Amino acid sequence: MTPRRQRLAILGSTGSIGTSTLDVVALHPERFEVFGLTAFRRVDLLLEQCRRFRPAVVVVPDEAQAPPLRAQLAAAGLKTEVRTGAGALAELAAAPEVDAVMAAIVGAAGLPACMAAARAGKRLLLANKEALVVGGASFMRAVAQGGATLLPIDSEHSAIFQCLPEDRGAWPRRIDHIVLTASGGPFREREHATLADVTPAQAVAHPNWVMGPKISVDSATMMNKALEVIEARWLFDLKPEQIRVVIHPQSIIHSMVVCRDASVLAQLGTPDMKVPIAYGLAFPERVESGAPSLDFLSLKPLTFFEPDRVRCPGLFLAWDALRAAEGTTAVLNAANEMAVAAFLEGTIRFTDIHTVNAETLSRLPPALGAAPHVDDLIDLDQRARATASQVMQGLAR
Ligand code: NAD
Ligand code: MG
Repeated sequence: MTPRRQRLAILGSTGSIGTSTLDVVALHPERFEVFGLTAFRRVDLLLEQCRRFRPAVVVVPDEAQAPPLRAQLAAAGLKTEVRTGAGALAELAAAPEVDAVMAAIVGAAGLPACMAAARAGKRLLLANKEALVVGGASFMRAVAQGGATLLPIDSEHSAIFQCLPEDRGAWPRRIDHIVLTASGGPFREREHATLADVTPAQAVAHPNWVMGPKISVDSATMMNKALEVIEARWLFDLKPEQIRVVIHPQSIIHSMVVCRDASVLAQLGTPDMKVPIAYGLAFPERVESGAPSLDFLSLKPLTFFEPDRVRCPGLFLAWDALRAAEGTTAVLNAANEMAVAAFLEGTIRFTDIHTVNAETLSRLPPALGAAPHVDDLIDLDQRARATASQVMQGLAR
């Protein structure tokens, strides 16, 4: 008997990770079926995806967007149901028809849907790192209590996961520490004094990866790596001092596990998110991803550097935030989301992003009780956004 196809909900299907996910899905129609797709702005692309993948459900944020979309879907001969509203994403993520959820929304906005998927015991493919940075221990409790299978999609965390045995119980005995690799972003060699003049267009042009605008700016400030340090703490249950970062500009080694016996396990590949996406989709099997494999004979030399505190101060906030009170990482994430949005809109300078993050952290101690509920964290996220706005008012040009 052929096994039933895995039914997917792809949250944020119109983004960089969302479209790459659909590219992998399209290679394996016998394995995967698309049950639901969601978009925030690009409803035109969502419609095109519906024509191709025929989902049962789509979610758009605004009720006003629904009637024209319904008409276009009907005109294309599709029975896709259009849902809207605050609860629609979480409802889709927890729907009984859904086996696996690809969480590819950007930012803390994706947290409620991730929590719903975790509580409903889904196979949860997590690209949306901010959700875990905000949710922290509450997120991991929901995964454990719901019996969900949490599969990292971030390339570094997928690399670590691929280097570890399937039996999670063996991880603490095996891992001495992990080394997350970082490309260093587009300004690794730029004159430090000129960083204040970086434009949004320069910041989103990443040398190795094609990604959405927010994560591209995060890569340029190295706040992306800070978020990934926090993400790794939760995914692999590590102490902050067990997480190290090394700059590896070629992005060929995606990360490494240094074992207790000093043996180092690494995962290598071309920098293409379809590899970790295919791994998450097919786990524990491996299927074609559509990415080219490495050609070792044409590889440039692999080099490694220590991250520089002066050049990328934001990176070092990660360890401080992990050692501080619970909720501090949520404050850092909220400040950074606000600062990156302001930078992309041209209201603050590139180097102000770090100022906003550090200043918001110092103005807003989280003061949460023990084992906070995720609603408390969402409330803290909102307060941190308000504080970050105040900080930015003092900076705006
Ligand atoms: P993107 O901006 O290209 O896409 C984001 C998607 O989320 C879009 O479909 C958008 O419509 C939707 N969205 C945005 N705001 C929303 C909101 N408030 N409510 C509901 N939907 C919303 O982003 P991306 O580069 O695909 O990144 C998605 C996530 O994956 C991020 O958390 C990012 O850090 C992570 N990630 C991305 C990459 C990459 O290569 N792009 C690699 C690793 C991790
Ligand atoms: Mg990454």
